[in-house]
Amino acid sequence: AGTVRFEDVRFSYIPERPILRGISFEVPAGRTVAIVGPSGAGKSTLSRLLFRFYEPNAGRITIDGQDIASVRQNSLRAAIGMVPQDTVLFNDTIGYNIRYGRWDASEAEVREAARLAQIDRFIESLPEGYDTPVGERGLKLSGGEKQRVAIARTILKGPPILVLDEATSALDSFTEREIQAALDRVSQGRTTLVIAHRLSTVINADEILVLDHGRVVERGDHTSLLARD
Ligand code: ADP
Ligand code: ADP
Repeated sequence: AGTVRFEDVRFSYIPERPILRGISFEVPAGRTVAIVGPSGAGKSTLSRLLFRFYEPNAGRITIDGQDIASVRQNSLRAAIGMVPQDTVLFNDTIGYNIRYGRWDASEAEVREAARLAQIDRFIESLPEGYDTPVGERGLKLSGGEKQRVAIARTILKGPPILVLDEATSALDSFTEREIQAALDRVSQGRTTLVIAHRLSTVINADEILVLDHGRVVERGDHTSLLARD
């Protein structure tokens, strides 16, 4: 379960300024498709439509054949997990942040998710800048560590569909490789849509679409796209 289809999807925020000009693709259940393209191409807009933050002006988006226009937003949020570019942490421990939205999860499940995302050593810590007890300093998490909190949260939530939004863009290359490995573990067996700037970060995607000015200008796998450069 979890096939995502975009069928000739068109969208503009402002009339006369088309942002998506007829986008069609399919992410078969359990597969990974990457959307690559320059800033402003329409990549984030595309993921916002998938979450129904906006409705397409034409065309449709389906999950397992059902138009998402008829799916309640709550159900969509349960079905689709998002690992965002920037993670804002809540004013509580890392463990709480991982558990967020899955209040029924056991302590063991939280630990396991944290271990897979390699953030388990911080599970009891409070992030810096929050209401830490007097005399204690909060933990200063790097971008990569915050990313891992988001990854652990997504692992715990366990949605069939994942959207990874340029998750590794702001990291140094060592951290990027580690995060990549954690993301590969989360996306294993899930329908995954990766939104990325660069071709180099989406090596294992089953299909890569190159988006430019709201159109798919090229599609293929990593090797064939590199050969065309
Ligand atoms: P990308 O994610 O590929 O960088 P976006 O989807 O964020 O591209 O943006 C595509 C275009 O839509 C850009 O020209 C951007 O300025 C415009 N845009 C994005 N969000 C809005 C909005 N809320 N209102 C109007 N225009 C927007
Ligand atoms: P498959 O589903 O084919 O086994 P994966 O889901 O493991 O493939 O990953 C597909 C590709 O997308 C991999 O090259 C992975 O490194 C890459 N990838 C995953 N998440 C991100 C991300 N947030 N940013 C950039 N690339 C990513």
